[in-house]
Amino acid sequence: MIVAGATVKALQAALPLAALENRILLCHALGLNRVGLITQSEREIGVDEAAALNNLIARRQRGEPIAYIVGKREFFGLDFAVNDAVLIPRPDTELIVELAIERLPQAGRALDMGTGSGAIAVALAHSRPDAQVTALDVSSAALEVARANAASNGATVRFLESDWFAALGTERFDLIASNPPYIASGDAHLAQGDLRFEPVNALTDHADGLAALRTIIDNAEQHLHPTAWLLLEHGYDQAAAVRALLVHNGYSDVQSWRDLAGIERVSGGRLSTKTP
Ligand code: GLN
Repeated sequence: MIVAGATVKALQAALPLAALENRILLCHALGLNRVGLITQSEREIGVDEAAALNNLIARRQRGEPIAYIVGKREFFGLDFAVNDAVLIPRPDTELIVELAIERLPQAGRALDMGTGSGAIAVALAHSRPDAQVTALDVSSAALEVARANAASNGATVRFLESDWFAALGTERFDLIASNPPYIASGDAHLAQGDLRFEPVNALTDHADGLAALRTIIDNAEQHLHPTAWLLLEHGYDQAAAVRALLVHNGYSDVQSWRDLAGIERVSGGRLSTKTP
């Protein structure tokens, strides 16, 4: 129990969470940044601040993700607003952004399918202002978050409410990237940690984990220009299955890339020029 009169310095040692989480919640409750924690270390907190801090700590102790409690998460060097309508951006997902930045031709058209918070689309548009980036999601609540993130990061992204390809008509792109729901229904991870609080439809396909990936791979051809890349994030044990789907659908240069933990996290291929 935190009480008024405690100093900022004393609180950093006294809060009951892990050191990094303590610091994040302390900054949030007191409206300070990291530097403020140092320069104002002797400041004594007030009654309202103590109450706010106790409330934040209780939420965290009930398991609520830090990113939802403070309403934001950093991704690709940018600040993203998040709420429980969207997945919390993962560091793993920076890989697909890097791959897309490298592969999108100058002034090319890119599509992010199932954009959620807008992490992939906004990071790509921010790094490649020459690009024309479209992002879609089936959830209007997610699109609201994504739109705000594009605006706050000064990124130009066109947003579409669409169930995968449904609203795209005959549009084609030079690159499609997606981090779709890929956890199999019943996977134990869904009942653990942050995932318990995240939108279940963004995590699982309610099937074998490959259903959304299959839908995208089986239908992307009509929305890609010849030689355009299709890049897909997937689970730690899905790389071989995703590569097989890409090969089966006639993609060339099919390969997988490893994330910072050394896990094959993204697979992709290019639409073959031979496609009629
Ligand atoms: N990478 C997330 C996790 O395992 C899952 C994200 C997703 O299904 N697209 O926590």
